[in-house]
Amino acid sequence: MKTVYRRLAIFVCLLAMLGMIAVSVAGTEAGVVSGRMNASANALADVPILNYHKIDYLQHALSLSPEEFDKQMAYLADNGYHTVSPDQLMAYLNHGKRLPDKPVVITFDDGYLDNYTHAYPILKKYGFTATIFVVTGLIGTDERFMTWDHVRQLQHEGFVFGSHTVNHVALDQVSLEQAKIELIESRRVIKEQTGQAARYFAYPTGAYNLQIEELVQQAGYRAAFTIRYGLAGPESDPFAMERIPLFKSEQSFRSFLIRLNGAPVIERLGLIRN
Ligand SMILES: [Zn+2]
Repeated sequence: MKTVYRRLAIFVCLLAMLGMIAVSVAGTEAGVVSGRMNASANALADVPILNYHKIDYLQHALSLSPEEFDKQMAYLADNGYHTVSPDQLMAYLNHGKRLPDKPVVITFDDGYLDNYTHAYPILKKYGFTATIFVVTGLIGTDERFMTWDHVRQLQHEGFVFGSHTVNHVALDQVSLEQAKIELIESRRVIKEQTGQAARYFAYPTGAYNLQIEELVQQAGYRAAFTIRYGLAGPESDPFAMERIPLFKSEQSFRSFLIRLNGAPVIERLGLIRN
């Protein structure tokens, strides 16, 4: 009898052990699965949004020569980058919609004429497109800027036009009422001239705050871009998207490479504040 009890005890122990092993394996599996799910949720990669102003020969920090700009675009093309639109970027960040390999968004602020005469042929050569945030009050009225015909032609070539206000005002320097007018009126004029209401906005001088972000959203924009250095990613505030500002310097190309490739590290270290 004793042996029977002992055998039963051993059997029960074995069962219990098997049970525990099963539970722990299941736990591990669950862990792996949820880990995988987390990984896929976090798998949204950061995307560089380059920010240019003028492509010209002016001795000005915001002016890159066409040769310098060409060198940077050649680098992107040689290294397998593909330009994407803000629509594609937002569909990716909001809904995980796939982007081509090595996506990059190329943006220009202000809407200078040289974007059409100098930047456009270079971009076209590499099969790239860009997004241009225009100061609507200067388009077609100031000869340093594009005309609406230029805008429409580039739009036809796949370029996207966003707003950069009517008068290039720093929105934190005017009343909220004035800021609202700048946001709504520039959007309206872009729709009138291109047939498409602007879906994106870039803050003149990079100035914004929470109240201004709200106004941008209320005016009907889907996202807005700052001049704060960084990569745009799943953690980004859609109404304060980081960009990589590019300037003329003694070593413009080296600085471009560092800013493009070193962005995540530099961002974390806080080495580039602009
Ligand atoms: Zn500007």
